[in-house]
Amino acid sequence: MTEKFDSVVVGGGPAGIAAAYTMAKAGLDVLVLEKGEKPGAKNMFGGVIFRHHTEKIAPEFWKTAPVERHVVEYQYWFLSKDSHVLVSHRNQKFNDRYNAFTVHRAKFDPWFAKLAEDAGALIINRTTVDDIIREDGRIVGVKTERGDVMANVVVAADGVNSMLSKQAGLREEIPGDAAVLAVKEVIALPKQKIEDRFNLGPDEGIAALLVGCGPGMHAGFMYTNRDTISLGMGINIHDLDKSKQRPNDLYEQFKNHPSITPLVKDGELKEYSAHLIPEGGYNHVANVYTDGMLVAGDAAMLVNAINWEGTNLAMTSGIIAGETVIQAKKKADFSSNTLSTYRQKLEESFVLRDLKKYRKIPKFFSSNQHFFTTYPEAINELAYMWHVVDDELKQERVGHMKSKLFKQRSRIGLIRDAYNIWRLFS
Ligand SMILES: Cc1cc2nc3c(=O)[nH]c(=O)nc-3n(C[C@H](O)[C@H](O)[C@H](O)COP(=O)(O)OP(=O)(O)OC[C@H]3O[C@@H](n4cnc5c(N)ncnc54)[C@H](O)[C@@H]3O)c2cc1C
Repeated sequence: MTEKFDSVVVGGGPAGIAAAYTMAKAGLDVLVLEKGEKPGAKNMFGGVIFRHHTEKIAPEFWKTAPVERHVVEYQYWFLSKDSHVLVSHRNQKFNDRYNAFTVHRAKFDPWFAKLAEDAGALIINRTTVDDIIREDGRIVGVKTERGDVMANVVVAADGVNSMLSKQAGLREEIPGDAAVLAVKEVIALPKQKIEDRFNLGPDEGIAALLVGCGPGMHAGFMYTNRDTISLGMGINIHDLDKSKQRPNDLYEQFKNHPSITPLVKDGELKEYSAHLIPEGGYNHVANVYTDGMLVAGDAAMLVNAINWEGTNLAMTSGIIAGETVIQAKKKADFSSNTLSTYRQKLEESFVLRDLKKYRKIPKFFSSNQHFFTTYPEAINELAYMWHVVDDELKQERVGHMKSKLFKQRSRIGLIRDAYNIWRLFS
């Protein structure tokens, strides 16, 4: 079979569905090809979706969408081998105006995809796109095992490993220092137990980031769902290689930390998965357009690792890609010249403005790992020294604390780190 569409979208994740919804709503003939048995079947994340950007497609979506809990508290854990320091922010305002929701992608993505279907897009699951089709140098369709599909514009929303953007020559293989390998478990516990352990009301949830206690750029995450906990950790591939450890061993080490174990005690393992996160930032963003093709979401490496945002960048880039195709159709011009407005609009949006602002941060953290190793350890040691009660005079105690700190990081190093952080974020 050979069919022709205004646009064929490859990938039924947040980016692809946002693009398909935008175009279908404007009356374009849109086909989404998804390799999983349904959208979300092959997707994993932490994680939370964000109200602000999801509402651009589905106002008040939490009333009908399969969301788990709305986040009322953000936790930042600094771990040493046998202790932690926890900084957290809980705010009633998150109950008055929801900000983010924990979701399971296997439930949320099919719901999200139905919005595009209801708007008129055709979604075909269990169909892997194997290659792009070119005619006279421009991309005019895709090849699948079921046949060729022709389109004025192909939207590549095929995720972090995006075969399509590589075939189109828009992107290289993701380098190890720009990618994080994450492993995650979904652990079932009774709803009430989760609420008791995390001090939550019904439907309230937490989102937690945990640093320390692992090699290199290594961080853990924890999210509360209705009756499960999503617990995982991610490590920069470059640092994983250097550590000579296996990711599942690192995860076990993390899960067996004395501060984590009680939170998941007696839980039943429901799911284990692993996935890459493109965390290279602005300097690694792909070329996002060529004749007959646009690239959106993780395929274009649009992830803000500092704020742990990805789905909102994916949805926004999908919407902008969709709008670009709508304009191109009006002009009946699908050349890279017309499609280049996509990059321009991304540059004007928060997507590339935020990534550009943070563009030096990924390299800074990968070459200055004290923030993942030395500082979490030091904060824990200082907290311990501060709280021990014995005969030592407090003045001497503070002196000992200072010398302990400067043994781990020199005064100059501390000042330099503080200055660099201030500069990077200001
Ligand atoms: C561990 C982890 C934690 C995260 N936590 C968060 C979080 O809390 N909040 C947040 O906002 N973001 C988070 N992210 C990032 C977020 O998941 C991604 O940025 C987002 O899913 C990108 O959406 P996408 O549509 O571009 O790609 P994906 O969601 O990866 O979707 C791509 C789709 O394309 C399909 N596909 C791939 N190749 C083909 C092919 N050849 N043919 C047909 N179909 C194909 C796949 O099956 C998939 O459905 C996290 C990511 C990870 C890995």
